[in-house]
Amino acid sequence: MQADRSISNISLKGKVAVVTGAASGIGREIALSFANAGAAVAIADLNLDGANRVVTEIKQAGGQAIGIEMDVTQEQAVNNGIDKVAAAFGSIDILISNAGIQIVNPIENYAYSDWKKMMAIHVDGAFLTTKAALKYMYQEDRGGVVIYMGSVHSHEASPLKSAYVSAKHALLGLARVLAKEGAKHNVRSHVICPGFVRTPLVDKQIPEQSKALGISEADVIKNVMLGNTVDGVFTTVEDVAQTALFLSTFPSAALTGQSFVVSHGWFMQ
Ligand code: NAD
Repeated sequence: MQADRSISNISLKGKVAVVTGAASGIGREIALSFANAGAAVAIADLNLDGANRVVTEIKQAGGQAIGIEMDVTQEQAVNNGIDKVAAAFGSIDILISNAGIQIVNPIENYAYSDWKKMMAIHVDGAFLTTKAALKYMYQEDRGGVVIYMGSVHSHEASPLKSAYVSAKHALLGLARVLAKEGAKHNVRSHVICPGFVRTPLVDKQIPEQSKALGISEADVIKNVMLGNTVDGVFTTVEDVAQTALFLSTFPSAALTGQSFVVSHGWFMQ
């Protein structure tokens, strides 16, 4: 189904946004929605071919975009990538720190190398991209908006997800510190906390959780993933992208430092 990206009249004309992990899933939809709203968008991802496919989609729709090969765990790659975006489009106004993966296993079987990989992508990646973007946002206090892709798991725990839950909780702390430090430079921060969204990240988990929990794949979807929603419906990439648009254009710092749960009632703060 073709996504409706024009349901709001929000304009990002003249703004420059960097979206990490934007070759796929949630990041891709945010990039497409931001470009549709008029922003120049950098599609930063490990997967440059995937990023460039999104760039082509945006350009074909009349928007402005650039593909950036970036591993968010590598400081030099992050700094070079952010500098490249600023050189191409003038500065950085919005950072969506979204790149992420999932590795599920009970704690007693969780490989330390997997734990470190999860922390590197979710927490180090958020820190490094923030630090690189602030260099531009703090210039003459021009300001900006940083949005971290948290999860319901920033607030809630599930079995098998020790590293993911810990990393997603950590983003709340980073966002709160940035809200306090960034205010004097007109920088705001937010965390968006989606419920289950049907992306490759979630598709991969269905058979894994089925095996680990000893239940059918249908039961993983119905009971584990959607059991606590009010409508038995997956959160959509559009639900998340519209929330990101709203937060990126909110006219004051009233919402800074806060997290926003987008989960069809699964988790209510
Ligand atoms: P996805 O697998 O569809 O996309 C993730 C993207 O991140 C991919 O394009 C991948 O190449 C990229 N990526 C992975 N490691 C990277 C790295 N080191 N550097 C740069 N890019 C990297 O996943 P998604 O479901 O769209 O997830 C996006 C974010 O949303 C993640 O942070 C995830 O934790 C979060 N999230 C997802 C869900 C969900 O149900 N899908 C729910 C809550 C939060």
